[in-house]
Amino acid sequence: MKECMIEKNTKICTCTYEPCSRKGMCCECVQYHRKKGQIPGCLFPADIESTYDRSIENFIKTYKKEK
Ligand code: SF4
Repeated sequence: MKECMIEKNTKICTCTYEPCSRKGMCCECVQYHRKKGQIPGCLFPADIESTYDRSIENFIKTYKKEK
């Protein structure tokens, strides 16, 4: 079984929400946001990520604008 890469993941994580206990645990991060109908912060551009609006609607709106 592959070892958890929490340290490596934490170093490259672009999420700026610092108090989060799931930081670097991508499997938990995905499950958490998926249950809430959201997208993990790392999939948003930095200026949008920092608003902490992780909704699917915001994700679609963000990438529609870039076209
Ligand atoms: S996206 Fe959400 S769960 Fe993932 S590290 Fe950021 S605040 Fe935590």
